[in-house]
Amino acid sequence: MNHEVAIRAEGLTRKFGAFTAVDHISFSVEKGEIFGFLGANGAGKTTAIKMLCGLLQPSGGKASVGGFDIFRQTGQLRRNIGYMSQRFSLYEDLSPYENLRFYGGIYGLPRREIKPKAEAVLKKLGLWEEKDQLVSALPLGWKQKLAFSVASFHEPAIVFLDEPTSGVDPVTRRQFWHMIYEAAHQGTTIFITTHYMEEAEYCKRVSIMVSGRIQALDTPGKLKEQYQVSSMDEVFLKLTR
Ligand code: ATP
Repeated sequence: MNHEVAIRAEGLTRKFGAFTAVDHISFSVEKGEIFGFLGANGAGKTTAIKMLCGLLQPSGGKASVGGFDIFRQTGQLRRNIGYMSQRFSLYEDLSPYENLRFYGGIYGLPRREIKPKAEAVLKKLGLWEEKDQLVSALPLGWKQKLAFSVASFHEPAIVFLDEPTSGVDPVTRRQFWHMIYEAAHQGTTIFITTHYMEEAEYCKRVSIMVSGRIQALDTPGKLKEQYQVSSMDEVFLKLTR
């Protein structure tokens, strides 16, 4: 079968002085795939994501995201992706409604489309009653679901999620994954990092990064087979210990 490629990295590298944070990583992600990008703290995941989002210059190698070169076509690239970063995704001093309208404006959605679209998102999330409260007053799980909706608001082809469920309770995490599956089902490519190994099982394929390098990349089933273990937790421990 001929699969469309959403992300392709070849020898992608980033150095900080003498330290190599991302060391010649190569992989590709198919359109509509949920790709888990795993690794211990400091393995280089965020650095790699920033390069793929056109936010950080690589020191070497090449990559394309949504068909756009991450070096030369950063403008087009950014319009075609959504990015939910680890620490900052929403304006805490704005309401959910204002956050959606603000990001809709930044991404150049027509004004007449923003209002109904924002309202539909808030209703779907079950946040209609809270739409005018400050985001800072919302529980973390709601913030993260809203942040995902904000990152997907302009209907990007590819969404990068950097530890979106970190610190979120198990029930809300399941709801979050429901949203991810729905987006993937509609053709959105999902590139996600997580420290929860049961979430790794929900991905179509996962890569495991150790000290800047990709040490393993396959479906969760094949990785467990390869390392002769019964859970992704054990695969992860074998590689990162
Ligand atoms: P975490 O799961 O903790 O977010 P990570 O896999 O995302 O970890 P990165 O944040 O990409 O890891 O960091 C990889 C390494 O690069 C770390 O050792 C970090 O200290 C280093 N690093 C990241 N950004 C910079 C920077 N701007 N200057 C110097 N070193 C950096």
